[in-house]
Amino acid sequence: MSGGDLRDLYQEVILDHGKRPRNFRAIANATRQARGHNPLCGDQLTVYLALDDSGRVADVSFQGRGCAISMASASMMTELLKGKTEAEARHIFAVFHAKMTGQPPPDGPADQDAVDQLEVLSGVREFPMRVKCATLAWHAFTAALDGGDATARTE
Ligand code: ZN
Repeated sequence: MSGGDLRDLYQEVILDHGKRPRNFRAIANATRQARGHNPLCGDQLTVYLALDDSGRVADVSFQGRGCAISMASASMMTELLKGKTEAEARHIFAVFHAKMTGQPPPDGPADQDAVDQLEVLSGVREFPMRVKCATLAWHAFTAALDGGDATARTE
């Protein structure tokens, strides 16, 4: 597959998630929730999270509005993190965040399936402003785990 074809495929996945976001709903009995706001782009979303007794992500969803990248990343996140433990979910974000910001990857084995799926978003690395769009939902997810809002930490 040539680079151009691959870029087209990535574009298609992002547009599909952006147009038909998965898990775009509130969770009535959410254990936690947190808002995220990216003022540079105008993206605003709320991530809802329900943990089961063992600390696994029983359900995760989001609502909000924003650019295609922010919506696609949030949509993909909800699909990837369902069923994961809190530690696994945090690690997936750490790997993704490192990749997007050009930092060395965190310690520990990466969840290769998640890494592969998130690869479609890697194109935005070239555009530092858009990195915040791509990581917004993840910051909100982490903030929900930590019990706060993500508006102040969209780096
Ligand atoms: Zn955006």
